[in-house]
Amino acid sequence: EQDVAEYRKSLAIRVSGFDVPKPIKTFEDCGFSPQLMAAIKKQGYEKPTPIQCQALPIVLSGMDIIGIAKTGSGKTAAFVLPMIVHIMDQPELQKEEGPIGVICAPTRELAHQIYLETKKFAKPHGLRVSAVYGGMSKLDQFKELKAGCEIVVATPGRLIDMLKMKALTLSRTTYLVLDEADRMFDLGFEPQIRSIVGQIRPDRQTLLFSATMPRKIEKLAREILTDPTRVTVGEVGM
Ligand code: ADP
Ligand code: MG
Repeated sequence: EQDVAEYRKSLAIRVSGFDVPKPIKTFEDCGFSPQLMAAIKKQGYEKPTPIQCQALPIVLSGMDIIGIAKTGSGKTAAFVLPMIVHIMDQPELQKEEGPIGVICAPTRELAHQIYLETKKFAKPHGLRVSAVYGGMSKLDQFKELKAGCEIVVATPGRLIDMLKMKALTLSRTTYLVLDEADRMFDLGFEPQIRSIVGQIRPDRQTLLFSATMPRKIEKLAREILTDPTRVTVGEVGM
């Protein structure tokens, strides 16, 4: 216990919540598949960043999480890697339709970055990733979604458009990520986020990441996450 506290302190990690798994030291500690380990190495990631050290074991254990760490700290892999594990754990993957993992980000540029990183980890397992944000015609997007996918990376507005067009349903979704939650709020996406969350089964796993944690995000998080563990790396603004 003392060792765990010391190790967290050395990484500037603070946690709150019950029975928080201890932070890992290497990617090998996560029990990832050989395909995933190869993809991690191919990306040039030698060891996990501090947010990854603490978030990976929490998310892999199935818990909801609020992750707060500054830009550039490696939050994407912290939610994408466990998502691949979560999806590969589903029995009879091909029997139903609609994404199992849904990632929402505030802007097309951010969503695109996440899309590119997600594809690198999804591909070795043959999982299909669809991009649902501006830049592609709605008709092409509609057709792509109709063809099926396991993962959607989206901006809230375009995802709502696609849901309205019945290009997809979220009935199979069990893993939801809200990335850059503070910026989604600043851009006025709260109603869209609530609408999307309302279409996803309540026993989903929910992850919320943010660079800052103002009160209004804290409140939203309390409403849509279940007993979340909170992880903060470094000093964080409100
Ligand atoms: P954030 O979402 O916290 O702003 P990103 O997930 O975009 O951070 O990661 C920032 C950069 O760090 C990216 O270029 C990413 O490829 C790289 N990165 C992520 N994890 C690792 C790691 N474990 N080792 C080395 N580089 C990493
Ligand atoms: Mg990010």
